[in-house]
Amino acid sequence: MLKIAKEKMPELLNAWAKIGKLYVPQDQDGVSNFLPWDGKGKLTLGQGNSVLPPKDLFFPRTETMYRYQRSGGALSLEEVVENEKQILVGIRSCDARSIALLDDVFLTKGYVDEFYRRRRENTLIVALACNVAQDTCFCTSFGIDPGRAEGVDIQVWEVDGSYILEAGTEKGRELLGQAPALLMEAGEGGLPEAPACNLKVDLAGVTEKLQQMFEHPFWAQICRKCLGCGLCTYLCPTCHCFDIQSENRGDSGIKFRCWDSCMFSEYTRMAGGHNPRPSKKERVRNRFLHKLQYFPERYGKFGCVGCGRCLSYCPVNMDITRIIGGIKEVDLNG
Ligand code: SF4
Ligand code: SF4
Repeated sequence: MLKIAKEKMPELLNAWAKIGKLYVPQDQDGVSNFLPWDGKGKLTLGQGNSVLPPKDLFFPRTETMYRYQRSGGALSLEEVVENEKQILVGIRSCDARSIALLDDVFLTKGYVDEFYRRRRENTLIVALACNVAQDTCFCTSFGIDPGRAEGVDIQVWEVDGSYILEAGTEKGRELLGQAPALLMEAGEGGLPEAPACNLKVDLAGVTEKLQQMFEHPFWAQICRKCLGCGLCTYLCPTCHCFDIQSENRGDSGIKFRCWDSCMFSEYTRMAGGHNPRPSKKERVRNRFLHKLQYFPERYGKFGCVGCGRCLSYCPVNMDITRIIGGIKEVDLNG
C-alpha cells in the first residue's frame, strides 16, 4: 500500500490528468459533482457522495452514434468513435456496484453495446472508501461494503491527514507507478473501519412477493403523490434507458441517443397512440419492479445500490426504502 499527504492530492491528480481526462468530485455551485479536473477546482472528496452519479462518463446524457451525409444519390455514414482515456477518481462503493450492474446490462446476455464498451474499457476507476454513512445511505442492505469497492483499479482510504492507496488491478498498479515521487510506502497501520448504515431494508423474499403483486391495489395507492418528473431515474446510478433520435440539417445530420425515463408518459407511447403504461400507476410500478424484480430475475442482483439519491431529491419524498417496507407488509390474501 502507498500513501500520500492530503495536501499533495492535487499534485497526484495533476500527474494523472496528463494520462487521461480526469474526473473527480468538485464543488459546483455549492454541490459536489464529478467534474473534469483542471488543477483549479475545489475538491470535495471529503464530502458525501456526489449529487449526480458518474454514470454519464460511460453512458452520456446525449451521445452521437453516427453522422450521415447525402450527396447526389449517394448516402455516406460516418461512425463516431469515442476513444478518449478517462480516469474517474473518488467513486464510492455504491456507485462502483452500479457500474458492475451497467456492465451486466450493456455487455452481457449476448449483446455488447459498443459505445458503452469503448468508454468502459478506456476508463480507470479509483474508489474512495466512505468514512461516514449519510442518513439516506443503505448500501449495506445490498451486501455492499462502504469501506472497499468492488472491481475498481485503485482503492483509496482517508486516514488522518493522508490517503492510503491500494491497487486492485494491473492497470491500477501502472497508474500508481506514474507518480513515484509523490507516493511513499504506507507502512504498518490499520485501515479505518467501514461505517455502518443506520438505514436498512429487509430484502428477503421481496422479488418473490413482487412476482405476485402485478395487479395488486398497492400500486394505485403509492403512485398518487408521484409528479412524474423523472428526477429519480436521472439521478439513479443504475437507470439506463435511452431514446434514439435524428437531427437533420438539409442533406446531413446525426443519429444520437439520449437518456429517457420510464416515469414519462411518452416513454411507452407507440406511434399509433396506444400506451401500455397509460397512467402513473403503471409507470411507478414499472420503476420498482425493474429494480426489485426484473433485474434480479435477469441478472441475479437487485437493480438498486442503496445510494439514497432518489430518497434525498424526490420532490414528494417517494422513498424506495419505505416502498420495500410496504411490499413486505402487503397481505396477498387480504
Ligand atoms: S422523483 Fe419522485 S415525483 Fe419525480 S418521478 Fe421520481 S418518484 Fe415521481
Ligand atoms: S433506486 Fe434510488 S437508492 Fe437505489 S440506486 Fe437508484 S437512486 Fe440510488
